[in-house]
Amino acid sequence: MTRKINPVTVAIARTVPPSCYVCGIKDGAPDGYGDAAELRPYGKNGAWICYYCMIGNSEREAEAHRQFDAQLGACGPIGILGETTGPRPLKKGNQ
Ligand SMILES: [Zn+2]
Repeated sequence: MTRKINPVTVAIARTVPPSCYVCGIKDGAPDGYGDAAELRPYGKNGAWICYYCMIGNSEREAEAHRQFDAQLGACGPIGILGETTGPRPLKKGNQ
């Protein structure tokens, strides 16, 4: 979708909450354990996965560690952690 905001036409990104590729729960939905589901992009090929699906299967947990390590490794010398989108590089002016 685009919208004219004088004098510039901008593209408006439509954000869809991610869902776990294993169980389908949406990010922020009640997870059945008294918390809101927190998803991370640590499934196969960076697919979103919830914590309980990650720890509930040793292969998925190992894949999550591989994904995290690869994403952190791609950040360069300084990576920022603690965001739901996974590690990201520290960039001047974009902290
Ligand atoms: Zn799940």
